[in-house]
Amino acid sequence: MPAQSMEELVALCKRRGFVFQASEIYGGLQGIYDYGPLGVELKNNLKAAWWRAMVHERDDVEGLDSAILTNPNVLRYSGHEDTFSDPLVDCRTCKSRWREDHLHGEFCPHCGSPDLTDARPFNLMFKTNVGPVEDASAFAYLRPETAQSIFTNFKNVLDSTSAKLPFGIAQIGKAFRNEITPRNFVFRVREFEQMELEFFVEPGTDEDWHERWVEERLAWWREQGIDGNRLRLLRVPDDELAHYSKQTVDVMYHFPHGIEELEGIANRTDFDLGSHTKNQRSLDITAAVLPNRDSNARLAVQRQSDKRWMVPFVIEPSAGVDRGVLAVLNEAYNVETLANGSQRTLLSLQPHLAPVKAAVLPLKRNHDGIVATARAIKASLTKLGLGRILFENTGNIGKGYRRHDEVGTPLCITVDHQTLDDNAVTVRDRDTMHQERVNTTALADYLRERLA
Ligand code: ATP
Repeated sequence: MPAQSMEELVALCKRRGFVFQASEIYGGLQGIYDYGPLGVELKNNLKAAWWRAMVHERDDVEGLDSAILTNPNVLRYSGHEDTFSDPLVDCRTCKSRWREDHLHGEFCPHCGSPDLTDARPFNLMFKTNVGPVEDASAFAYLRPETAQSIFTNFKNVLDSTSAKLPFGIAQIGKAFRNEITPRNFVFRVREFEQMELEFFVEPGTDEDWHERWVEERLAWWREQGIDGNRLRLLRVPDDELAHYSKQTVDVMYHFPHGIEELEGIANRTDFDLGSHTKNQRSLDITAAVLPNRDSNARLAVQRQSDKRWMVPFVIEPSAGVDRGVLAVLNEAYNVETLANGSQRTLLSLQPHLAPVKAAVLPLKRNHDGIVATARAIKASLTKLGLGRILFENTGNIGKGYRRHDEVGTPLCITVDHQTLDDNAVTVRDRDTMHQERVNTTALADYLRERLA
């Protein structure tokens, strides 16, 4: 059973070091969060799972890690300067600001006043100065999506690899949006991470590829431990499509605050490559693009069959890392009543996502032999490269088990007096609480199998 409320998850995240309010000691910064010791491990594991599935397990996708600061021309021709905005409404009474489509009724959600302004577009992009001169022309944008730098690097990747259509470029990285009303913890924030794939295909094959990617992405989220019953697909109505999209299917998830978007899978047509291309008229670009006088690139390929130049269409599965972390935490969260009537909080994370894979606990914290053996076990298990193995010398095994249940550690390994005689340790399973003795010589294989 997932969490009953967002508050439960927020409390767990703070208490156990998953997520903290950024700049908290100075009162915070709205819509900005930091990931703590366990949060960074969970987030890295989720990103690694995505990278494995999207890049390493495929031969038709290459990776990229590009800059956040972006030349304004990129976001001018991409259409973001003109259209990447939300409708902003001001309350004249209390001066609060709202996103029109987040209002319920015609009253200010803060003070109840009906005295609201008409909506006006508010551009979501952050700007910053570049270089030592504070001159209005010397600015850059903080990218609002990682996608644009994939498009601007299209030729570089093509020319430096053996990529041929259909192929994709994948990137994980920060994106920034000056959201009018950031809310719901890490669900809607101003600084977040995206995992984006731009998959380039021949025009005409785009709709089939779109469907394939929707299926693939849905299957991937299930592999992260998300129950299919809490996932839905939503075909975005035509009048709500982003300016670049011909069709978008959103993967929706039942978050604690409601059913909302986890990932968007858009058919961006030839809009982006076409927008950033010079001599657009010599190519059959189908999308309505701004005439481009600044680019020096022709983002086109030669069709294999008739050698004609064409601008590929692109299918984009774009997932939010922070929303992903929130979804997997919510799915894994459970408060269980035990046979003796007591309760335990349990985070049944998939082993590949768990921040700590195993905790090695000496039964006696002042017993030199036991402590040294436990340390040696931790050191040898860490070498397996399975992720974080923790040595924890508190001497209170019961408390250790509870704490590790709550942060999702799949296995606890206890070293006791008997270990010094028979070379065996007690391994406790997080979900079943079942304990078994395992010889230390068999421990590596045991962990590899259990954490696979
Ligand atoms: P929304 O409609 O919820 O504002 P969007 O449709 O604008 O989202 P996209 O532009 O499709 O979002 O971005 C792709 C993904 O990036 C989203 O599915 C989401 O997971 C993530 N994302 C977008 N905006 C935010 C945000 N402000 N905070 C956290 N994640 C975000």
